[in-house]
Amino acid sequence: MPIDFTLSPEVEDVRRRVRAFMDEEVRPAEEKLRQGEADRNGYVAAIGGLRKRAHELGLWNPHLPIEWDGMGLGPVAMAFVSAEAGRTGMGPHILNAQAPDEGNMHTLLHHADDAQKEKYLRPLAEGRSRSCFAMTEPEVAGSDPTGIQTTAVKDGDDWVINGHKWFISGAKGARFAILIARTDPEADPPQARNSAFLVDLPAAGWELVRDIDTMAGQGNHCEIRITDLRVPAANMLGARGHGHLLGQARLGPARLAHCMRWIGQAEIALEMLVDRALKREAHGSLLADKQAIQWMMADSAMELYTGKLMVLHAAYRIEQGLPFRQEVSFAKHHVANMLWRIVDRAIQVHGALGYSTDTPLERMMRNARSARLVDGADEVHQQTIARNVIAAYREHGSTRTATGDLL
Ligand SMILES: Cc1cc2nc3c(=O)[nH]c(=O)nc-3n(C[C@H](O)[C@H](O)[C@H](O)COP(=O)(O)OP(=O)(O)OC[C@H]3O[C@@H](n4cnc5c(N)ncnc54)[C@H](O)[C@@H]3O)c2cc1C
Repeated sequence: MPIDFTLSPEVEDVRRRVRAFMDEEVRPAEEKLRQGEADRNGYVAAIGGLRKRAHELGLWNPHLPIEWDGMGLGPVAMAFVSAEAGRTGMGPHILNAQAPDEGNMHTLLHHADDAQKEKYLRPLAEGRSRSCFAMTEPEVAGSDPTGIQTTAVKDGDDWVINGHKWFISGAKGARFAILIARTDPEADPPQARNSAFLVDLPAAGWELVRDIDTMAGQGNHCEIRITDLRVPAANMLGARGHGHLLGQARLGPARLAHCMRWIGQAEIALEMLVDRALKREAHGSLLADKQAIQWMMADSAMELYTGKLMVLHAAYRIEQGLPFRQEVSFAKHHVANMLWRIVDRAIQVHGALGYSTDTPLERMMRNARSARLVDGADEVHQQTIARNVIAAYREHGSTRTATGDLL
């Protein structure tokens, strides 16, 4: 299947404008904030000001349709926008296209009824609220959502929910959660046992136990205890028993959105590697002149290029309405691992400086480690990929359809 890599003038224009906004306004502000130039109020004001600027510049909600105050971009154009925004720490938030809200907005757009859209999507789209997605539990493997133990039991016009969740990103300060709970324990297949609910927050019965300390510090990934939480029946999102389907539908494009941002981060790391190698001399020549260092550059460039192609191809398949799970798994696994490797090489080339907290690299490395776990651990994607390769071979006597279906 041919792929046309020509960007429409509109997408090229959006890319140029996002890049200029990030370079000229977002990154300088971020640098100042990082140097501790603002207190909490100053920080909030600076971010609010930049979000307002994004609105003025017509760069607000790139992922949403125009009727939802968005730019109406498809997944391919979003790949460019997110990679540009991902070159900064707060760029996605400034455009109102940050995880988990971006994925939740897509979910609401496709699965919510009109009343739910007005109540939950509207404020998110307008930047007046934040949300979280609550699926993973400490007691059972998050890799297998059929094991979810949080229960929702019908009681009159309400559902009564009990359970335990953790690593719920953005939970602190969220105005609502999309919560996955077991409503039909006997359903067969097990994928039909869970349903999704919209939970208004804060709520009696929703206890925020802690913001979990991670290797990257406290990032608002929270543990939640749920006790006799009452949710009206009208707050079921999508059909009963469709919680698993909804989670999968949400995660495909959401995974890819993460990859797009990680590409921006990997690009920064490679640029730092090259910059340092061009400035540092040892044993009579620049580091950049040494083959060992050039190999790091070459490997990083090839891996980054592969990642970009994978992301663009997966985005293209989503946009064309073609099956995309295999391609998203390729991209998710490859980009998460290449990010880790490129940041690691950049640290190596920086020597002791790379190990210090004087550059952003150590923080980037701590953040990058989670990429191999979130939205499906490496091995789960490898399992999916292998399963599709076997199925393709059984059906066609060839693995071609499971390797991009390209050549
Ligand atoms: C920073 C961060 C943010 C997160 N945000 C959210 C969020 O907002 N909402 C939410 O619901 N969850 C969130 N999560 C949770 C995340 O989705 C889970 O961590 C992930 O699904 C893996 O589940 P688990 O941690 O229970 O690991 P487990 O499922 O226990 O797996 C542990 C390990 O076992 C291996 N493994 C698992 N299955 C297989 C297999 N089939 N074959 C071979 N090996 C396997 C893998 O190496 C895996 O890493 C977040 C996690 C992190 C780290």
